[in-house]
Amino acid sequence: MRIALVAHDKKKDDIIEFAKRYKHIFEQHELLATGTTGRLLKKLVGLNINTLLSGPLGGDQQIGAKVAQGEIDFVIFLRDPLTSQPHEPDINALLRVCDIYCVPLATNVGSAEIFMKAIRSHEDIDDNE
Ligand code: PGA
Repeated sequence: MRIALVAHDKKKDDIIEFAKRYKHIFEQHELLATGTTGRLLKKLVGLNINTLLSGPLGGDQQIGAKVAQGEIDFVIFLRDPLTSQPHEPDINALLRVCDIYCVPLATNVGSAEIFMKAIRSHEDIDDNE
């Protein structure tokens, strides 16, 4: 699967912790991320990850374009709902395009957990075939 990862600044610790926990699964997929999120995941988790522009500088839009082009299967976007963001229109556009194309979108760790469990059980089924 092609998985996109984005985390707002106050959610960076959460995405790092999450990626460490599911590193064994993430390693088996194609990953891309907005700039700072991707750099942190590379450095602190050791994931091989394709890094785009930073979110506020167009990274969210780049991910949105890839969603629209059918190049992303799943988005984990840990949003900070308590801080206003200068690139709010880009964030809304990314959420919107995921809904248009029915691309699964996890905006918090709880829903991201469910996605990871779904990916894992799908892989278990593949292993047994
Ligand atoms: P960043 O972008 O990974 O470059 O911090 C995330 C965002 O704020 O959308």
